[in-house]
Amino acid sequence: MSTSVPEKAPTTDRPLEGKASLVTGSTSGIGLGIARALAAAGSAVIINGFGKPEEIEAEKVSIEKDFGVSVSYSDADMSNPEAIEEMFDAAFSEFGAVDVLVNNAGIQHVAPLEEFPVAKWDAIIAIDLSSVFHTTRLAIPRMIEKGWGRIINIDSAHGLVGSAFKSAYVAAKHGVLGLTKVTALEVAEKGITCNAIAPGYVHTPLVEAQIEDQAKAHGIPREEVVRNVLLAQQPNKRFATTDELGGIAVFLTSDAAASITGTTIAVDGGWTAH
Ligand code: NAD
Repeated sequence: MSTSVPEKAPTTDRPLEGKASLVTGSTSGIGLGIARALAAAGSAVIINGFGKPEEIEAEKVSIEKDFGVSVSYSDADMSNPEAIEEMFDAAFSEFGAVDVLVNNAGIQHVAPLEEFPVAKWDAIIAIDLSSVFHTTRLAIPRMIEKGWGRIINIDSAHGLVGSAFKSAYVAAKHGVLGLTKVTALEVAEKGITCNAIAPGYVHTPLVEAQIEDQAKAHGIPREEVVRNVLLAQQPNKRFATTDELGGIAVFLTSDAAASITGTTIAVDGGWTAH
């Protein structure tokens, strides 16, 4: 009689050994958490984003030391297609391929539509949406050559629902979910998957600063800001963590996720279940 018990234990707890992962916008927050999780799974990583050079260098050294993997850094601006091409050229000459691509870089601006600065609209569409097109078109040919690849787009609950005053962000994040589906369909037979992760609120330095600001602005305790302002839409009333996001990204690279493609994993505590 057949049994569902695996015959062999997994041979390694570093399933991404020998692979290279590029995470855009990984000098802080969610991107950094995902870069560290992929490194913990054995992958070399290319980190990208802005910040103080000494802090970026310290993070790079810490990932190398903590996980024993190669780490390189690109300061490519995700709003600049030429810079994105240069980042890929450098990654290919150093690692031969980008096996795991995580599109995470993103910015936000909040204003009513009729007052929304045109330059902010253009920047959000370029960084949050068009960069995903550029990185994906550049990554795919080598993934096809290798017959394996994982593309993970860090989207948002705002890819599934709208909120007032976030026109550019909501438009870009809805766009990324469309691009995720098309990418998945085009590479479906090539051993490559493409999926999105759509977080609600995640506890990052940016969100921490918002808690402090709102508490001061409204003269209310931080617990009240968290529960009634920031997490007003999030039924479980807790932030997701960057570690949780890292774990989900690593899962999407795993053999168990080989048939998950073209879909979105909502990590929003029930927000979009309303
Ligand atoms: P963050 O501000 O902490 O990090 C953003 C990263 O992107 C940084 O490394 C920054 O240097 C980089 N970046 C910004 N502009 C860039 C550019 N032009 N080129 C290259 N890098 C650039 O933000 P975060 O909260 O970690 O968000 C990361 C992603 O997750 C974004 O796409 C965001 O929309 C999404 N997200 C965040 C939350 C949340 O609650 N924090 C919720 C839903 C979705």
